[in-house]
Amino acid sequence: MARVDLDVPFSEKDEAKALGARWDPQAKVWFVPEGRDPAPLARWLPQHHESDIEPEPEYAIRSPYYFLVESNSACWKCGSSTRVHAFMLPEGHEQFEYADEEDEGFTLDSPCGYWQRYGERGKVSNLYGLSPSVLAQLRSHTNRYKPAYSQQAGETYYMNHCEHCGAKLGDFYMHSEPGGAFFPTSPAQASTMVLHKVEAPFGGNGSMGYASDDFFEFMQCKSGE
Ligand SMILES: [Zn+2]
Repeated sequence: MARVDLDVPFSEKDEAKALGARWDPQAKVWFVPEGRDPAPLARWLPQHHESDIEPEPEYAIRSPYYFLVESNSACWKCGSSTRVHAFMLPEGHEQFEYADEEDEGFTLDSPCGYWQRYGERGKVSNLYGLSPSVLAQLRSHTNRYKPAYSQQAGETYYMNHCEHCGAKLGDFYMHSEPGGAFFPTSPAQASTMVLHKVEAPFGGNGSMGYASDDFFEFMQCKSGE
């Protein structure tokens, strides 16, 4: 679970702090720390007004810019080390949240909801849709991160394929196991990862994952390509 950002007016910051809110100096936002009960801070939870409600978008994850991450993983089939890719989104990316029937004042004729902003970096896994411009950018780097059926997940999503033998490399190990290609656990491991920063909007469908420390500052960043 990601943390929850709050809308705290400046004049109420001391009160929010006393009730457990924490300040993120980078994103300049107060938030409910992960694992903490948000109930005492409920009055500052972002309010969604009817005017914020939008119809279901084609892509439920969006960001003003993004990173294509390149890492390495051992292939389970041939044992060789192969390049693998994933998308990382910066602070301020948004996910579309569907409005519940219980939300007051909304009657749902068709799927709709609102955009929820996230104040931390995250990686996309189980990606199953990409906007044409992001896909074109991906294809300028690799043809081996492409839709394939996963027996384990029971669905089709963008999966990396070994550059030596073509075997499918599922997301689970690389994203969810500490030490996996996209789950660095040390500066040394992060320093083997390459970030390609793309100054263009991201649009896609999949799942966002958040790490308490992603060792971002140790990754090699390449921009302006
Ligand atoms: Zn292989």
